[in-house]
Amino acid sequence: MIFNIFSRGFNFVRNNPQIIYTLFLVIAIPLAFFFTSEQFLQVARENQDRLERSRIGLLQDAFALFAREYVNDPAYLSEKIRTIVGENETIVNFQILGAAEDSNAEIFPVIASMNEGEEGTTLSVDPLSGYLISLAGSKRDEAYASEFYFNGARHWRSVRAITATDSPAVAGYAVTDLTMAQADAIARKNIRNAYVTLGLIILLIVILLARQARIIDYATLYQRLKEVDKMKDDFVSMAAHELRSPLTVIRGYVEMLGEGEGLSDKSKGHLKNIDIAALQLNTLVGDILDVSKLQEGRMPFSHQSLDVSEAIAGVVESFIKPANDKGLALHFAKAPLPPITVDPDRFRQVMINLVGNAIKYTPQGEVNLLASSDNEQVTIRVSDTGMGISAEDQHKLFQKFYRVKSTETEKITGTGLGLWITAQIVRAMKGTISVESIKGKGTDFILTFPIAK
Ligand code: ADP
Repeated sequence: MIFNIFSRGFNFVRNNPQIIYTLFLVIAIPLAFFFTSEQFLQVARENQDRLERSRIGLLQDAFALFAREYVNDPAYLSEKIRTIVGENETIVNFQILGAAEDSNAEIFPVIASMNEGEEGTTLSVDPLSGYLISLAGSKRDEAYASEFYFNGARHWRSVRAITATDSPAVAGYAVTDLTMAQADAIARKNIRNAYVTLGLIILLIVILLARQARIIDYATLYQRLKEVDKMKDDFVSMAAHELRSPLTVIRGYVEMLGEGEGLSDKSKGHLKNIDIAALQLNTLVGDILDVSKLQEGRMPFSHQSLDVSEAIAGVVESFIKPANDKGLALHFAKAPLPPITVDPDRFRQVMINLVGNAIKYTPQGEVNLLASSDNEQVTIRVSDTGMGISAEDQHKLFQKFYRVKSTETEKITGTGLGLWITAQIVRAMKGTISVESIKGKGTDFILTFPIAK
């Protein structure tokens, strides 16, 4: 059961490889966006922190240089500290602590402070301050900072040693707390905006990809249509094939009956009509079979060297009677031509179609065939003085089932397949076919085939 579902899924994906591409896009693109946004935000946060730290470090460096001159004037130092704090609203604590005797001391004298009345008292420092003071005491020309949280807001504490003016001994420590509350609030707002934009982009991508999923539907549908189309072709080809044998039988018996004695003229007329209808049906069946063979690439082509003049003369010969019956002149001036490489039967079929059409669509006048050659190719021209074809119809002439609709063509029977088949065969034999025509004057079909090397 599970194996079945799995193998059906596997087959579906194998038949629709686009699905892998779509899934890849659905997952990969939003993830890529997410990670790049995260990276940008991370870099922005780090830069902000570095900036704040260096700001407080610089302030402490400057203050340490200034304060060493005034460690003996706590009131003046406190006043300066309050001035600085007054102008920097992010500084939430600023004290100058005196040096303790013991390096592990936890209690420090307060020399100066932003808070009134703190000067001269002692302060029991927390472990963070203790740690930073010990670092600042060991390397006295640098500020040491660390992050901590107070009342849910991020803070930086920075400590810098103040050295005495007359010796390298530590005269005190500047301890400064900076709140990151405002900076973090701005960052949070930016992050929120970034996520909203990211969400919108992902939504957009998902919508676009949903459309892509619909394309998969169409692709499946297209595949089914192709299968149905193939079934239809197979059926038509099979039906046409099966029609052939009974038609041959009908035509055979019609011929036998026609040859029999004692038939009235009326009956002979009826037999002729049956034969004409059977012949039409035969042509139709033949055309349909040719179409299906050409479409499926099943039409066999041999490659033989052919004497074009000889082959055309043969076809013309077979049309002399039908042309004359219609009162048309049919000419072909036979001349020596270089051989071409084609399938002789198919070449004959092409010539029969074109000469047959020329006679069929020419009410009066003549049909002329002309063949010539140059170094490259043999050109064959089938000209008639018939009804002609309008420029608009000429464009559609080689389409399947296309027939010119006019009062002149109304009574002429046909399938509209002949020229399509002709063009396909000519192209398969590396030739070209084109038409030149003036409505009401006549038509030329021009064939070219490369000379056999
Ligand atoms: P069919 O003759 O069976 O209708 P074809 O494919 O042979 O089909 O020809 C398509 C259409 O082209 C014809 O219906 C006809 O209107 C037009 N046509 C073909 N040959 C000629 C010609 N020599 N002169 C005028 N019209 C022609």
